[in-house]
Amino acid sequence: MSASPTARSPFVNPSNRFGLDYEAEAARLGPPPVAISDVHTHIAGRKAARLFQRVMSLYGIERCWSMSPLEQVEPLQDVLGDAIQFIAVPDYWSKDRSHAHGKGFLDRIRAYHAKGARIVKFWSAPRGIDYAAESGAPGLLRLDSESRIEAMDLASSLGMLFMTHVADPDTWFATKYADAERYGSKRSHYEPLERMLERYAQPWIAAHLGGWPEDLEFLDGLLARHDNLHLDSSATKWMVRELSRHSAADLESFLRKWSGRVLFGSDIVTSDEHLVPAAEKNEMASKGNSPEEAFDLYASRYWALRTLFETDYLGESPIADPDLAMVDPARFGPMDAPELVGKRLPRDVLEMLYHGAAARLLGPSPQTPSR
Ligand SMILES: [Zn+2]
Repeated sequence: MSASPTARSPFVNPSNRFGLDYEAEAARLGPPPVAISDVHTHIAGRKAARLFQRVMSLYGIERCWSMSPLEQVEPLQDVLGDAIQFIAVPDYWSKDRSHAHGKGFLDRIRAYHAKGARIVKFWSAPRGIDYAAESGAPGLLRLDSESRIEAMDLASSLGMLFMTHVADPDTWFATKYADAERYGSKRSHYEPLERMLERYAQPWIAAHLGGWPEDLEFLDGLLARHDNLHLDSSATKWMVRELSRHSAADLESFLRKWSGRVLFGSDIVTSDEHLVPAAEKNEMASKGNSPEEAFDLYASRYWALRTLFETDYLGESPIADPDLAMVDPARFGPMDAPELVGKRLPRDVLEMLYHGAAARLLGPSPQTPSR
């Protein structure tokens, strides 16, 4: 990739530190070697979904799997058709958290399944410890809690696959989770996961490269111990920061060794609130305040992941990464970004990561009319 990004008028936001024209950038990247399956998204909002559809087509994304609210399944299908599949999630917006993650989740799993979902998400990030404590139900989100086991039994009986989020970046364990007594060590979060991988033999997808993109050797052991485990590449800022640190040769040999076990994901979150000016909006929605900023928010994730995997780009990421300032506030500010070191992976490795692994695990793409 040439070093002359298509900068446009000074339009700078945390997803676009250089004022790139992400539409022109997509044309400059060209189509990916194979149509991409994105197995990890959070699509919500009709208008945002329409914008996301444009981003998908610009960046060569053929289909996505999304943790959308149950109530939005049909509206989103109206917009995206066969290009969107759903992943069952609890009602995170409910005021009664114990119910939402207990009996309420069982009802939701059945309802998502009836609408065609084949995957269920079990979120178990360390900050779930705070969430559970606030809910007055410590242990609520542990992967091996009683209510989780009940949900896993149900999902198993329905023939569903499991997706999970275990652990978080090393940067978080060095800062916000530094209280090891409360949050445990990063390694300790894998103990319940490994027990559940044994107990439930169906395929699992551990999001965010299993939560440990910093340590390919650990992931190698985890994949070797559990034949049913797969990983996704979602969480763009985290992947850009940490995968850039590995040599291209190390990443390539990891992906070759575990060919078919690593799926492409972005973790793009869409919301109609991204398209409107900041008023009384929550933290997630404040990431975009106009259609242009929402476009940059979504497109930048595909730009960064594709640039990381496909090109030999060497320079700062266009996406601000506040983790840098969190770890080292003397050196970094919230708009700083890490080095993005392109790996220029060979075509066959990209084809498996982008498409082959998802096709094997989740089935081939629906018949699409010839374009
Ligand atoms: Zn996610």
